[in-house]
Amino acid sequence: MQLKIAMLSVHSCPLGKLGGENTGGMSVYIRELCRELGRQGHLVDIYTRAHEPIHDQIVELGKNARLIHLRAGREEEIEKLAIYPHLAEFACEVENFRKHNGLHYDLIHSHYWLSGWIGKWMQRWWDIPHITMLHTLGAVKNAIGIGMNEPDLRINSEKALVRDCNRIIAPTEREKEYLIHYYDASPKAITVIPCGVNLELFRSLEKEIARNYLGLDGKGIILFVGRIVPLKGIDRLLMAMPYLENGQRLKLLVIGGDEYCRDEMKRLRSLAQSLQIHDSVSFLGLVKHEDLPYFYSAADLCVLPSYYESFGLVALESLACGTPVVATKVGGLESVIRQGETGYVVLDNTPFRLANKMALLLSMSNKEAISSIRASVTKFSWSRIAEAIVNEYRAVLSSHSAKI
Ligand code: UDP
Repeated sequence: MQLKIAMLSVHSCPLGKLGGENTGGMSVYIRELCRELGRQGHLVDIYTRAHEPIHDQIVELGKNARLIHLRAGREEEIEKLAIYPHLAEFACEVENFRKHNGLHYDLIHSHYWLSGWIGKWMQRWWDIPHITMLHTLGAVKNAIGIGMNEPDLRINSEKALVRDCNRIIAPTEREKEYLIHYYDASPKAITVIPCGVNLELFRSLEKEIARNYLGLDGKGIILFVGRIVPLKGIDRLLMAMPYLENGQRLKLLVIGGDEYCRDEMKRLRSLAQSLQIHDSVSFLGLVKHEDLPYFYSAADLCVLPSYYESFGLVALESLACGTPVVATKVGGLESVIRQGETGYVVLDNTPFRLANKMALLLSMSNKEAISSIRASVTKFSWSRIAEAIVNEYRAVLSSHSAKI
């Protein structure tokens, strides 16, 4: 049976510039999942806030999947929390659009607490199940204590959402435990389904070809990809560099960061100066998602030194390109990286710990491993992840209709 799904992503447009302060893994997740659901024959409408006047109201994302921009507040990028006062307006716009176009949905799937807040209203108005995915948890961020403190408004909204929605999809067992511990969620209300990777886009290219294409020389190349925010622990990666032998023959490429990350970027550049590694580090800013396979393939290893990840898509992308990963024990990284085979998961981002494993991988880099590294993540194809999510939708729908 074909499902009609209302996907809510109020603050983060799936077509937004990836790697900015607020646009990263969640946008990729929504875009890829919706395209795959559409390919599998379901109908998906993603509702997002109009944030740029240039966008058409309706953008086809793929077969059966469309993105709908609705006005709520100024038609420009605004800070996440500043969207909160516009949520009621956005919910009304969704309802107007639905009515005007004679649409009926089977279920709502919301992403992040701001969309969850709207999803709670739609759930009541439409009397259909509401499935949510929080992507990051405010209480966990506060417990870690790196970066800005998350306001009570967020924590309380997340608590209410966890209590009232019909099902929570968590990307890892760890996130499930956090939901139980910090939000008193019922274990039965949570289903763990990992994130996916686009295996057509993320393929390994010949290292030399990739390096030539990017104009990189024969040095050992270490890669970081992600939003430039303190929680990513990039400072720890910079501090790891001086521990590596022949540091001057290495190059660290840091990808990500837009104008909203200016302060963190400044802090990292001055740290690189004081560590005297500035000649070995290049801050490349945003790189188009489609160009990333060149970088992953050119690199000898990719590092995710994060304090917290909800999942960590970058690790999947790197492995799909055959490049090993060193990552901290956060998010889904333990379930993705095979210790000693496809990289290393380290207990925390202590610079020496990171450097130790980075040095091991740099000394190994062998071509034969590339295909087995890629093979280790083929089970994370979006088609498989979307099938698991559809099974969950159906389970929630049948228990909802049993109650009516
Ligand atoms: N990304 C990108 N270009 C950049 C920086 C990041 O396309 O310049 C993408 C990256 O490929 C990944 C996503 O942004 O798909 C980051 O997701 P991840 O789960 O690693 O981190 P999050 O943003 O959820 O913290």
